[in-house]
Amino acid sequence: MGDSRAQLLDLSVDEADAEGHLVRVRDWFRRTGWSEADPAAYDEYYEMYPADSFGERSSRLFAGNGVYSFVPLHGIYIGGGDSYGPRCRKCGTEYDLDEAVQLAIAWSDSHVEPVLSCTSCSRQERMGDWEILGSLTVASFAIIVDVHDHSLNSDPLIAALLEELRSQLGGRWVHMVENI
Ligand SMILES: [Zn+2]
Repeated sequence: MGDSRAQLLDLSVDEADAEGHLVRVRDWFRRTGWSEADPAAYDEYYEMYPADSFGERSSRLFAGNGVYSFVPLHGIYIGGGDSYGPRCRKCGTEYDLDEAVQLAIAWSDSHVEPVLSCTSCSRQERMGDWEILGSLTVASFAIIVDVHDHSLNSDPLIAALLEELRSQLGGRWVHMVENI
């Protein structure tokens, strides 16, 4: 009820490489202090996946505790709750949600990402490059961020983490918010 998670998805990872990616990414989290190993750490919604507690690096950016889950799962990731269709980054027009769901199902099955054309301005972009913060996408690897106290602002933590993932690990990271 009113719970949410930040999902950081790397769209560059293939399903076949997701497990190996998990090990590399988690090592990086621990080495850089974003996370620390903690056998007691788990997220109730992702309890079957490996999880770490926030490390000192995270604690400098966020006042509370939290858990990172590392999820090598191929499929459709959905903003949840009040999801919307992907939005054009040029003009803001929303792509039809029902159509986007069908395209995501085909993408998940075929492993081929569709290119969407904006119905207003004709801009063409891969589906994962649209504005999808509360929408949906297909991925094979996700980091799920569970902050335990939602009254505290986690925006600085997520923004800094995303920037560093992109600059230090490369890949194609996108941010979505999952309302549970
Ligand atoms: Zn447009």
